[in-house]
Amino acid sequence: MSFVSQLNALDAGAPLSPLLTGFRSLLEPLSREELESLAARSVTTTRRNFGRTMRLFAPLYLSNECVNNCSYCGFSRDNPILRTTLTVPQVEKEARHLSQLGFRHILLVAGEHPRFVSEGYLADCLSALRDFIPTLAIEVGPMETPEYEPLVRSGCEGLVVYQETYDRAAYAAYHTAGPKKDFDWRLECPERGYAAGFRRIGIGALVGLADWRTEVLRLAAHLEYLLRTCWKATFTISLPRLRPAAGGFQPEHAMSDAEFVQTLCAFRVCFPQVGIVLSTRESESLRNALFPLGITSISAGSHTEPGGYTGEGSNDVHLTVKGRRVELEPETPRSSCSGGATNATGQFDIADERSAGEVASYLREIGLEPVWKDWDSAILSTVSEREKEPFLAGSDSLLLTS
Ligand code: SF4
Repeated sequence: MSFVSQLNALDAGAPLSPLLTGFRSLLEPLSREELESLAARSVTTTRRNFGRTMRLFAPLYLSNECVNNCSYCGFSRDNPILRTTLTVPQVEKEARHLSQLGFRHILLVAGEHPRFVSEGYLADCLSALRDFIPTLAIEVGPMETPEYEPLVRSGCEGLVVYQETYDRAAYAAYHTAGPKKDFDWRLECPERGYAAGFRRIGIGALVGLADWRTEVLRLAAHLEYLLRTCWKATFTISLPRLRPAAGGFQPEHAMSDAEFVQTLCAFRVCFPQVGIVLSTRESESLRNALFPLGITSISAGSHTEPGGYTGEGSNDVHLTVKGRRVELEPETPRSSCSGGATNATGQFDIADERSAGEVASYLREIGLEPVWKDWDSAILSTVSEREKEPFLAGSDSLLLTS
C-alpha cells in the first residue's frame, strides 16, 4: 500500500487520525490572542527540539529546460524563455562560489527534461561536488528507485519533491502537458526515494492552487504516513506561496500572512521533530518574523536561474521551441523573450534579496545560530557497518557548526 490509497480514502471521507484531527482544529480561524498563544507554543516546541539553530542552504539551478507545462512555473515548455543547461565544470564553479560564501548544503534544482538532466548527468554533478559540499540534495523530475540508487551512491543524501497540490482536479487543471500529469506517480515519489536510500526527504505543497486548509491537511496526512512507513529518514515540509511567474500566472487561492504563520505554527506543534523550510519567495520582513517561530531551514541569497551566481552558462543561452533548440539571432533584443534578462530566465521572483551573509548576521542579532554544516561523511568512517542504520535514523539531531 502507498499513500495513494490513503489519500483516496481521505478524499472519500475516511475519518482523520487523532493527530490530524488536532492539526485540523489548529487551522480554524483564530483570534489575535489565540494566534499569539499558538505562536508561543511553537517557539517553545522549536527550542526544545532544535535549540536556537537555523540551517542555511542554497539552491543551485542546473537547467531550466522542461518537458512539462505547469501553469504556475516560468520554466514551462511553452514559455518562450531563455534556457540553458550548465556543464559539469560550470556546476562546479557555481558550487565553489557558494562554498566561498559559506554554504555547505546545496540543493541541485532542474526542470524535468531527461535528455538534458539524465541520472548520469546528475551523478557526474554530484561526484564533482561531494568532496567540498558535505550535504547535497536534489529537486528534479521524479524517477524510479533504481534510477535514484546511483545518485545516492554518488553522495546525494536529500530528495525534495513537492506534490504541488493534493487536489486531483486542481492538479489536472494546472499540469496540462508532460509526464508530470500523472498525479499518482508524483505522489509515490518520496516512497521510491526512501527505498533508494535518501536519508533526508522534503515534501510540500504550493499554496495558491487550491483551498489552502484542505491542501495543508492533505500535506499533514502525507507527512504522518511517511513518518510511520519511512522511519529511517528525516523529513522536512515546505509551503511555498506562489508568486507571479513567466507566462502571466497569478495565484487564485490566497493565504494571508496571518494564515501562513498559523499554518507553520500548527505544523510545528503537531510535528515537533519535523524540519520546516522557508524560501526566499517570502518578503524580508515576513521571513524575519517567522525565523524564531518554528522555521529550521532557510535558503538565502538565492538565484533561480542556471548560472545565476556566477554568470556561467550565459554563453549557451537559447530558446527551445517544440523540443528543438533555437539559436537567438544576434540582433534579437533579449528583452523580447525574457523580460530583459541577460542570462537564462529564472523560475520565479525572489522577494527577500538579502545576501547569505546579511541573513546570517540578522539571525545572530536575534539570538539564533546559523548552521552552515551539520554533516560530514567522515563521521560514518568511524562507525562500523552494523552501527550505521540507527545512527543514520537519528542523525538530524546532530549539528556541527563551522
Ligand atoms: S514546476 Fe517543474 S516540472 Fe513544472 S514546468 Fe516548472 S520546472 Fe517544469
